[in-house]
Amino acid sequence: MFPNNKLKALTFSYDDGIEQDRRLIKLFNKYNLKATFNLNSGMLSNTYQWDIKGVCVKRMNAKGLKELYQGHEIAVHGYSHPSLEKLDVDTIRNEIELDKMNLQHMFDCKIRGMAYPFGTCDHRVIQVLKENHIGYGRVVETTQNFDIQTNLLELKASCHHNDVNFMKLAEEFVKLKPAEPKIFSIWGHSYEFDVEDNWEVIEKFCEFISNREDIFYGTNSEVFL
Ligand SMILES: [Zn+2]
Repeated sequence: MFPNNKLKALTFSYDDGIEQDRRLIKLFNKYNLKATFNLNSGMLSNTYQWDIKGVCVKRMNAKGLKELYQGHEIAVHGYSHPSLEKLDVDTIRNEIELDKMNLQHMFDCKIRGMAYPFGTCDHRVIQVLKENHIGYGRVVETTQNFDIQTNLLELKASCHHNDVNFMKLAEEFVKLKPAEPKIFSIWGHSYEFDVEDNWEVIEKFCEFISNREDIFYGTNSEVFL
């Protein structure tokens, strides 16, 4: 059950701390939606940039991020975005503990969640999350449904925003009159809206699904933990 006895919750998870987060946050804030942003504290610099289909994808500098992400959740994404399962356990620990510590310091908050870089993990990575009291770890596979998940350390979103069923799922979720709690969770990277030139997809979605009395709009930790 979510606040005010609501049985439906909506949440977003966006990775990497890229410049396009600024536009996405403006949109979420306009519609009173809440999201979790998964950041690599060792890579918060414009010097990390690359090109996808002619679009410049650039990580943000650390300055001003606390104000930018105000009202949303910050979560771990690894200090330097490695494939964690390929590392020895001490390096895994370093990647997760250091990121958590840096983000807690930078955002002056308790960090409670994680999205795995590249969406991958193994039992050693999961063990390090447990040691660090990180309550959920998001992978990139999706469920295409709104069911409550029991394995929060391999948490799947309902869909990616580029999923062909994105709006169909939104319509289903809005119509739903559940007898038990249901969660609609979406994940992605904000730069994908520039790369695919499809900001209207998320704008239309936010306008459609926001400000409904029977939906709780929360961050990943508010919804899943
Ligand atoms: Zn990432």
